Order: sequence, then C-alpha cells, then structure tokens
Amino acid sequence: MLVVMKPHATEAEIEAVVEKIRGLGLTPHPIPGAQRVAIGVTGNKGGIETAQFETMPGVADAIRVSQPFKLVSREVKEEDTVIDVGGVPLGGKALAVMAGPCSVESKEQILEVAHAVKAAGARFLRGGAYKPRTSPYEFQGLAEEGLKLLALAREQTGLKVVTEVMDAETLPMVADYADVLQLGARNMQNFSLIRRLGAIRKPILLKRGPSATIREWLMAAEYVVAGGNYQVALCERGIRTFETMTRNTLDLNAVPVLKALTHLPVIVDPSHGIGLRAHVAAMARAGIAAGADGIIVEVHPRPEQALSDGQQSLLPREFEELMRQVRVIAGAVGRSV
Ligand code: PEP
Ligand code: MN
Repeated sequence: MLVVMKPHATEAEIEAVVEKIRGLGLTPHPIPGAQRVAIGVTGNKGGIETAQFETMPGVADAIRVSQPFKLVSREVKEEDTVIDVGGVPLGGKALAVMAGPCSVESKEQILEVAHAVKAAGARFLRGGAYKPRTSPYEFQGLAEEGLKLLALAREQTGLKVVTEVMDAETLPMVADYADVLQLGARNMQNFSLIRRLGAIRKPILLKRGPSATIREWLMAAEYVVAGGNYQVALCERGIRTFETMTRNTLDLNAVPVLKALTHLPVIVDPSHGIGLRAHVAAMARAGIAAGADGIIVEVHPRPEQALSDGQQSLLPREFEELMRQVRVIAGAVGRSV
C-alpha cells in the first residue's frame, strides 16, 4: 500500500502516519517527491484496510500498489531517482558514464586507464578486484590489493569507484573502498547477499541475471530497497539467448520497459552485452538512444594482454571517440554528459 500525503502535509502529520504503520507491525518507507511525500508500506501478508489512513489529517489518498515490486515501482514514486554518489549524480538528466578495465591488474594499468577515461569525460571508474570467473584456473582478481589500487586511482582522478562485491564475507571491506557496489549478474538472485545490500547505505549497481526476467530483476531490487537502501541502479548487461555470434544478447527492450515500470536509474553495459570490441560502441550509442541513464564500458590500454574480457575492451582512444558520439546522442534525447 501507498499512503499519499497532501502537498502541504506537516512533518507531524507525516510522522503520525509513520507511527500508525509501525503500530500495525508494518514497515513505513517515506518517499519524498517533488510535490508531496508518499509513504510506502511493506511487511503486510494480505491487503491493508486503506480507510484507516484516508481519514488521517494530511493524507490525500491511500492506494493499493498493483505491482509485486512496490517500492521500486513508478506507482509509488513518479519522479526518477537520482542517486548522489559523493556529488556525482547517478540518474537524472546527466548521463552517468562509467568506464575502466574488467579487472584491476596492476597499479600502472589502473592508473593509466583511470586518467584516460577521466580525460575522455567519464565520472566513474569501474574495475573488479573480486572476479566471478567461469573457470577456477582463470585470474580471480587482486582482492584487497585491487581495492587499494582503485582507491589510489580515485585519489588521483576524483573518479567515483564502481567495483563488484561477490559475497557477504568481503562485503564490509569492499563497501569501505567502493563508491558504488556492483552486484554481478551471477549473484542477482543470491537472496542472502541482496538482503545484506539492503542493510547497508551505499549505492548499488544491480546487474541483471543472465537468465532473469525483468520482473525477477525488479524483485531483486525490491529486496534491497525494502531493506532500507534506496540507492539502487539497474544495469542491463545482456541475457542468454540461442544466439552464439555474440557473447550475450543486449536486451535494449528492457530500457524503455524499465523506465516505465520503475523510478530507479537504468544503466546499459554494452561490453558484456555484446562481448565484441568492434560492436561495443554501437550498442553503447543505442543504449543512450533507448533512454538509458548511463553506460558502463570496459576500457583497457592493451586489450590483448588483459587478464579478463580483453576481447570486449575498448582502447582508450576508442572510448574517447565513443564519448564524442555519446555527447551528440545525449543532446538529441534531452540529456547531458
Ligand atoms: C563485470 O562487470 O566485469 C562482470 C563480471 O559483469 P557481469 O556480472 O554482468 O557478468
Ligand atoms: Mn568483465
């Protein structure tokens, strides 16, 4: 249920509704909007009698939310969510551009890429220190050493760090270093981990599971938000289909569909989405044109030597060229970079 307050409802009236919800053994989620505050209610097993709220002072309406994902739905919050990542917006009119290597490999590598993507216009540096690899014999990431290198790159460039958290055990440490915690595709339905992400106060980039429907993905986001962490962005990174010419199938349908269903920011990952360097830029441009709130792109100065995902990593000069194109497309769809 959603309790919609009147535009000029007082703090005391809002607090009275919050207290009443708590008194029923339920959880209130006050959601400030441009015009008015709405209070989402979770924790109920069946329907809640709306009349008991409708008669309270300052309440405009109490409505049942029809979607199974409630707090992340547009029904509950009409305005786009803009996450403030230490002064850099994630969501809203300005596109969030995230770029960097698949994995942090060395001090020289991460600093070189960080300076290059910063110069090209990125505001976020991506890079994995804990890598979910298909084979146990492949590079697994530099672990805490990699996180320290990301922190050093942030210090030198001012870029915000986006890095993956793989398990609950390392979550506190990764959260200490990261500005945005990436929850990888393979973990999208790791319910114990996503519950923990709901309990912390750090922005989350929730990647879509390779076989997850949009509904399942939104339900995963709902876990995080229902836990009290409202700073969630969604990342389309391609789904598994019958097609074998590309690594995954970037589901650009998801972009406008999500923008209609949810207020959360939507980021497109063309690198994992198509998996082929030659075509990454095309899909990045398409993602922005489709209405994404940003992109996350793999960039490596020597892709042929990369320890992971070299085949889909852009060279710094290719990323620079992509940024030029992104600026043009952003202008055409009413966005800025
Ligand atoms: C990555 O970003 O390098 C990554 C492992 O992504 P995904 O979880 O989408 O496969
Ligand atoms: Mn990768």
